[in-house]
Amino acid sequence: MVRMQLSGGYNLNLAGKPSLGITELLKVPSLISVKAIDLHGIKPLMKVKVGDKVKAGDVLFLNKANHKVKVVAPFDGTVKEVKRGDRRVLLEVIIDVDGKQSESQFKSKSVDDISEKDLMDHLLDTGSWPFFRQYPYNVVADPELRPRDIYVETLCNEPHVPDMNYVLQDQKEAFEKGIALLKKLTPGNVYTGLANTEIEIPKWMRSVKGTTPVYTNNIYPAGEASVQSYNVAPIKKNEVIWHINAQDLIAIVNLLESGKLDYSRVMTVAGSCVDKPQYIKTYVGSAVKVVTKDGVSYGENRYISGGIFTGTTIEKDGYLGFYGHSLHVIEEGLNREFLPFQRPGFEKASFSRVFLSTFFGPDTFVQTSSQMGEERACIACSHCEEVCPVDIKPQFLFKSLLAEDYAMGEALGVKDCSLCGLCTYVCPSKIDLDDIISSAQKFLHKEG
Ligand code: SF4
Ligand code: SF4
Repeated sequence: MVRMQLSGGYNLNLAGKPSLGITELLKVPSLISVKAIDLHGIKPLMKVKVGDKVKAGDVLFLNKANHKVKVVAPFDGTVKEVKRGDRRVLLEVIIDVDGKQSESQFKSKSVDDISEKDLMDHLLDTGSWPFFRQYPYNVVADPELRPRDIYVETLCNEPHVPDMNYVLQDQKEAFEKGIALLKKLTPGNVYTGLANTEIEIPKWMRSVKGTTPVYTNNIYPAGEASVQSYNVAPIKKNEVIWHINAQDLIAIVNLLESGKLDYSRVMTVAGSCVDKPQYIKTYVGSAVKVVTKDGVSYGENRYISGGIFTGTTIEKDGYLGFYGHSLHVIEEGLNREFLPFQRPGFEKASFSRVFLSTFFGPDTFVQTSSQMGEERACIACSHCEEVCPVDIKPQFLFKSLLAEDYAMGEALGVKDCSLCGLCTYVCPSKIDLDDIISSAQKFLHKEG
């Protein structure tokens, strides 16, 4: 057991919290997307084209750099669209779903008896591999490496992402089997993030055999694997760690036992523009219009797949991402306020306590996408440093990265950054710090 007291971090009380109560599994959507753009580190080599018929488990694309890493169709259907972006970068593959999965796509395996090699082969052949991601750089795990440790995301404290205490409450047996599998993949520890109080994780999770619990204060982003690793056992040169979401791990257990792909997940639909913020059970890659079936308020809205700090903006008629287990809908902040700093700001969330909301504000704040101003020069306020959970000084780091001084960037901790987004959120000069750091991480990963 390890105790971690996070310095930094920040909890933002946002309006639009999902109410507990999982609706039944939604029916298989007619269209589903496999978001290649979310699979960082994979260079896709297409194996299908528009119009091809696919069965669940058929390969859609491989990683050019290592053909063992495959991404598969989750359902039977026809390839409807292969969407590409700038410089023909593959964004997503959209499948027109037949409404079913073939009965059994793979041979079932015994979770207890499977060897390390068989497990690796099975994860790779079934397209389950991309659910494992690797730090540094948060890329899809490299099957040629062995992770020093594996972190299972069990404590998710970004606002309104699924509360694992609720989602995992009846999943003890499958979770324990999942941990036994992970023990075969690493010679090191399998860490689970646990909160100090009973309300934030299922009680049984405190005593799962084979895990090393990391007890932490429940402040965002204490649940992130990279933050835990930085505080518990920092990653040294030539070491990697892997991480996986607890729901994805349970889906892998289900696949091993049944031979059928399991892309169903409990997700949240949240945010101030959602008419009925709630938990739903749907599928990875579902269409926005399917998961917002109970309505969103009319207007110009921003749709975010994943957490409010770490998610990605998607189109209203788009699809959920590969890893994001939530959809946030907030208002686009298109209207400019007149003299915003001369208003009391009772309704505005404020890290720097410049508005009266600090003393007389509501319990929850309505967040729009507005930055409330243009980017300006850094004023050396150090707010970014105060919230950083991994002791980076973002105000120095971003300057070195903009100057392409990557050696200095590494010395200032660019690899440790978890891309939690807090520094960008609190920056009064509206500098997109985590975007600058993210671009540098991609560059450094590419350069090796
Ligand atoms: S530097 Fe990275 S880890 Fe630190 S607050 Fe910014 S995004 Fe988060
Ligand atoms: S929060 Fe923004 S303005 Fe303040 S020190 Fe950091 S980068 Fe500079």
